Amino acid sequence: MIPVTKPFLPNKEKLKSYIDGIYDRGILTNYGPLVQELERRLQDRFDVDHVILVANGSMALQVVYKVLELEGEVVTTPFSFVATTSTMVWGGLKPVFADIDPATFNIDPDNIDSIISNRTSAIVPVHVFGNPCNVEAIESIAKKYQLKTIYDASHAFDVVYKGKSIFGCGDVSTISFHATKLFHTIEGGAIVTRDAALAKKIRLATNFGFTGPGKIDALGINAKMNEFEAAMGLCVLDEVDHIANARKCIVETYELALEGKVGFQRFQAETKKNFSYAPVLFSNSDRVFEVEQRLNESGIYPRRYFYPSLDCLSYLPGSPSCTVSRELSEKILCLPVYVGLTDGEQAKIIKIIEDAL
Ligand SMILES: *Cc1c(COP(=O)(O)O)cnc(C)c1O
Repeated sequence: MIPVTKPFLPNKEKLKSYIDGIYDRGILTNYGPLVQELERRLQDRFDVDHVILVANGSMALQVVYKVLELEGEVVTTPFSFVATTSTMVWGGLKPVFADIDPATFNIDPDNIDSIISNRTSAIVPVHVFGNPCNVEAIESIAKKYQLKTIYDASHAFDVVYKGKSIFGCGDVSTISFHATKLFHTIEGGAIVTRDAALAKKIRLATNFGFTGPGKIDALGINAKMNEFEAAMGLCVLDEVDHIANARKCIVETYELALEGKVGFQRFQAETKKNFSYAPVLFSNSDRVFEVEQRLNESGIYPRRYFYPSLDCLSYLPGSPSCTVSRELSEKILCLPVYVGLTDGEQAKIIKIIEDAL
């Protein structure tokens, strides 16, 4: 069976030695030494000032919405994993969708202006499949209306835009380190910001608001990453360049073989990509079903990322329909990409798609 992705398992001996250390110290969580080490290493890698590790990518978003005191409406994209939107609804916020650009799959800044109201408090764009948003246009809109900008950068590990980590954009960026992501900590995530005061507030909020024993200075929640997750992260980080290279090879092989037969996402110029996904576009949903069925018959399971378009969610009745996002979600299929996918397996996937077309 060939799934859309498989979690990367790092060197077991190295992981064991980290676990030995955890046993020796007896520290399992509460901002332990491995969490601190992973934070430092990620700060260096991204060249950003503040990386705060958290329990998962959804928690990262929830904590940020609270600490930035968002209220009312939030402008976001309908073409993302459900967590971008569900965390807003969970936090009592109303998502308002701005339709996407059909070529880049990202929120189209031209659609943002018209849906901003006096109830809007923030913009939450997503760098879909690691493609940097039009951050310049989004920033100027945010400035004009004095809105906070939070990038859901869950797909954008190691993405560099105009020579800098994409995580430096906006007021805050959030990342997911879920097992299926390019870099992972089993479950986990991070919040990135350049603002020292904000970073301090965020850290406080992730640990119940404690500033010391018996001293609670703010509303908080438990959003902490634990030492076992950080140990996994440190091991995966040592091998992340190898992971990225393997994925790059696979994605480029799909592109070369399927060029002219399927559509591809158009990337922002001046971007160092991370090749985290292999989305391809077909002419219509019938074609997608046909291809998917033939692949399934051979034990190959691509995924319809992202389907459904989030303006169709049952708990958001009356959302104005985002036609570009809906159409894209009907035509897209993400093909298998993971370390360990063999040349032979990939050739088979390509052959089945070619035959189906
Ligand atoms: C994976 C993902 C999340 C959620 O992250 P978890 O760590 O699974 O909670 C949020 N947004 C996007 C775009 C994602 O891909």
